[in-house]
Amino acid sequence: MYQLKHKERMKPRREKQDKVSDRLLKDIQNKLDQRKRLTRQDGLALMDCHDLIGLGRLARRIKKQKTGQHVYFNSNFHINLTNICVSRCKFCAFGRDRDDAGAYAMTLDEVLQQAEYGVEGGAKELHIVSALHPDLPFDYYVEVIRLCRERFPTIHLKAFTAVEIDYFTKISQLSLHQVLQTLKEAGLDSLPGGGAEVFSPRVRDKLCPNKANSERWLEVMRTAHSLGLKSNATMLYGHIETLEERVDHLLALRNLQDETGGFQSFIPLPFHPQNTQLSSIQRTTAFEDLKMIAVSRLILDNFDHIKAYWIMQGIPLAQISLNFGADDLDGTVVKEKITHAAGARTNEGITKEELIRLIREAGYTPVERDTLYNILQVFD
Ligand code: SF4
Repeated sequence: MYQLKHKERMKPRREKQDKVSDRLLKDIQNKLDQRKRLTRQDGLALMDCHDLIGLGRLARRIKKQKTGQHVYFNSNFHINLTNICVSRCKFCAFGRDRDDAGAYAMTLDEVLQQAEYGVEGGAKELHIVSALHPDLPFDYYVEVIRLCRERFPTIHLKAFTAVEIDYFTKISQLSLHQVLQTLKEAGLDSLPGGGAEVFSPRVRDKLCPNKANSERWLEVMRTAHSLGLKSNATMLYGHIETLEERVDHLLALRNLQDETGGFQSFIPLPFHPQNTQLSSIQRTTAFEDLKMIAVSRLILDNFDHIKAYWIMQGIPLAQISLNFGADDLDGTVVKEKITHAAGARTNEGITKEELIRLIREAGYTPVERDTLYNILQVFD
């Protein structure tokens, strides 16, 4: 009896929501058909939309226009040089103080051993990101790149977030341009997209006041792109940010992409609260994660690729994301430490065969790519 009454009460509300969603998605579809750019207002309305399947359908159309039936992956290997960090952001479970249990910093020999392990395992890209170590000099990072380049001449070196690059300017007293140029000359090929978190100054002041702010993050990327270094971009969502702040983050990236064209892919990263100072916050839901993928695909009209990062989403949801606008499952990864410190229950790596199976099962053609999205092999 109670259930029946409850259902009756819910019906008009749900019907109203459906009507609003139908109208919104029709308007958005019209705009997309006329190749009109979506506005901040559109973004906010989409974030509020309850018709996840309708959203996914629109995002999938854009994905198909951009990359057809292809879904990409790459063979990569993660190296985290150190977890000792001066920043200690509230959302991070990876950073440590020097004397904490588990604190480490790799020697150059250890880095090379790790890199060799990755390359022998078939990696075509080394993804190197780390904490902001209080004492390691800039020369250490330059040597990491120089030695990896010397030992593995054909491997793609994707290293150092914009936050790390900014930190290098502080420890080296060099300009942004000089830091990036020095690393490029040592063999750096591109930059990952981390450290963007959410650009809102309100959020950054509360959660990560000790590292590069949003203007600086964008400035690092602008400079890297001007030197011919491509990069990715991320957003860490699902903590204290508002939906407006998420949309503003996407718009800031879209503006910079208009200017430089240097971003390759956007990667929405759901926040993992476990073992962080924000552990009371609940993990985002599957509904929210899929909506974020779809809205990102719709707003970021000048990004070619939206990545479903299986390490943070989990493999089942990353696979479903392929029907909500994502066209890339990232890579084999092999040794992920950062999200696992925050309680990720996914494996630390995945095989190429498994990635191919996941993509095929979702109805797409698996394509192995290099870091710059050159096609290496199509698995018809
Ligand atoms: S997110 Fe990066 S900068 Fe912040 S504490 Fe963790 S490792 Fe350090």
